[in-house]
Amino acid sequence: GGRIGSQTTSSMRVVVRVRPQNANELEDNARSVIQVIDENTLIFDGKEETQPFFFRGSKQNCRDLQKKPNKELDFKFDRVFRCDSSNADVFEGSTKDIVRSLLDGYNCSVFAYGATGAGKTFTMLGRKTSPGITYLTIAELYRQMETLASEKEFDLGVSHLEVYNENVQDLIQPSGPLHLREDNSYGVRIPGLSVHSIRNADDLFALMAQGNRNRTQHPTDANAESSRSHSVFQLYVRMTNKLDRTMKIMKLSMIDLAGSERASATRCKGMRFTEGANINKSLLALGNCINSLADGLKHIPYRDSKLTRLLKDSLGGNCKTVMIANISPSSTSYEDTYNTLKYATRAKTI
Ligand code: ADP
Ligand code: MG
Repeated sequence: GGRIGSQTTSSMRVVVRVRPQNANELEDNARSVIQVIDENTLIFDGKEETQPFFFRGSKQNCRDLQKKPNKELDFKFDRVFRCDSSNADVFEGSTKDIVRSLLDGYNCSVFAYGATGAGKTFTMLGRKTSPGITYLTIAELYRQMETLASEKEFDLGVSHLEVYNENVQDLIQPSGPLHLREDNSYGVRIPGLSVHSIRNADDLFALMAQGNRNRTQHPTDANAESSRSHSVFQLYVRMTNKLDRTMKIMKLSMIDLAGSERASATRCKGMRFTEGANINKSLLALGNCINSLADGLKHIPYRDSKLTRLLKDSLGGNCKTVMIANISPSSTSYEDTYNTLKYATRAKTI
């Protein structure tokens, strides 16, 4: 965000995580288009090493004139995580601080943004052996609640839903499509959404894994692990002061967004095209809200999609937001990576 000296003034912290090259990319000898310079800086599409080329004994400039010049763009973020960073490293450098903000009374949200295959689910959910940001953040919340136990009582509830094709579905207890209600005193409510209590971060992991199995997944031509749904995991915290019984309710939202690649890239046909168009609708709306917040506008177009209506009380204003932009380093994802870096740069100005 906007920086004055070393202090950040923004309410959105934007970090970029570069995933390692996968087996296919390594096999194809794909070029890396990302160079991480330091904890805040990366270069996109830097110059390649040029091999000297000799013609009749003299060294020639072997630049391929057909080839577009490299963009060599410098990008700066609140943090940049190299491909050897673990989920624990990303947690330390991106979401650990918001636990304090949550307990100070702020609604907080964490987004994983990026193309399909860029590492969003790995970052948010992770694996049993390296749990993701959601688990690590809530484990930290338990640690901090423990230190406050003499003054405060806590009640926690969690829900997990997906927005798919502009429909809202409960992922823990799947039922029919759910509807959003706006309530003057409670903000956004979703009647019928199941809310579960958890005792510790491990209860949570089991719940999340279950929810993730219920996600709508459709293999597409572009990527067999494609996910067109937005997964929204929400944790409600009710904090009661033991002395005067005053109460505060806060909400932490952890969102694994649908792939940001353009619908055209997946050669969508028939029904699938609508799905693509609808995903763009929620992502587009999120982008428009980010733009409006970045420009300091009064009117933020939350109403334009299900996802943004859902997050109306968790984005901008009195909220702390972290965006984790996930990218592949490979030249095979050149456009997706470039688009993600531009989107993340825009979010940084909030
Ligand atoms: P997305 O959710 O953005 O579509 P995934 O999180 O499913 O992408 O990641 C795609 C593949 O790459 C998965 O097999 C995942 O395990 C792997 N992967 C992603 N990020 C990392 C990482 N930082 N380290 C190791 N493997 C990763
Ligand atoms: Mg995913």
